[in-house]
Amino acid sequence: MKIGVLALQGAFIEHVKMLRQLDVEAVEVRLPQQLEGLDGLIIPGGESTTIGKLATSYGLVKPLREFALSNPTWGTCAGMIFLAKDIGIEEQPILAAMDIQVNRNAFGRQVDSFETDLKIQGLGEERFHAVFIRAPIVVAVEPHVNVLSRLNDGRIVAVRQDHLLATSFHPELTNDLRLHSYFCAIVKEGYN
Ligand code: GLN
Repeated sequence: MKIGVLALQGAFIEHVKMLRQLDVEAVEVRLPQQLEGLDGLIIPGGESTTIGKLATSYGLVKPLREFALSNPTWGTCAGMIFLAKDIGIEEQPILAAMDIQVNRNAFGRQVDSFETDLKIQGLGEERFHAVFIRAPIVVAVEPHVNVLSRLNDGRIVAVRQDHLLATSFHPELTNDLRLHSYFCAIVKEGYN
């Protein structure tokens, strides 16, 4: 199993390290041809406008979209924004692969970064320590999108649509490997 991590900007090294801890072959992706032979892809957190600009200048937007439409792909934070079909009125390059509507920087200034323990469907009873950094929120999902986790106030922060996964927070900044294992299980399902 070989998983790519989009390495244009943001927290990509941390994802690579998490995958390697799970004994998964992990490669950094910067060019369209590096998508060949990958079984899955992680799009990290960072700054989605920058990731979009760099992806445009490297000719990556269309290849990434095509990859995400038919291969397991997980977006964390800025990666969630980049995967979404609808980010409201904002104009920036996105892959528009996942049937979710996302609001960028959805938390006010005073709480633009915070940590909380979440219940996440599919990870068992033990809560997941989630780090939110100027995070997006999922404000609407189409019926075939499965909500995996919400904040206490009901706002959606983790979703799955078949082979696509998106989380508002940064699992690669903790020591908890469960979400990476969960994504690897989605990748393995693709083999069957
Ligand atoms: N606020 C960033 C954006 O809009 C996302 C922040 C993050 O990835 N931690 O792209």
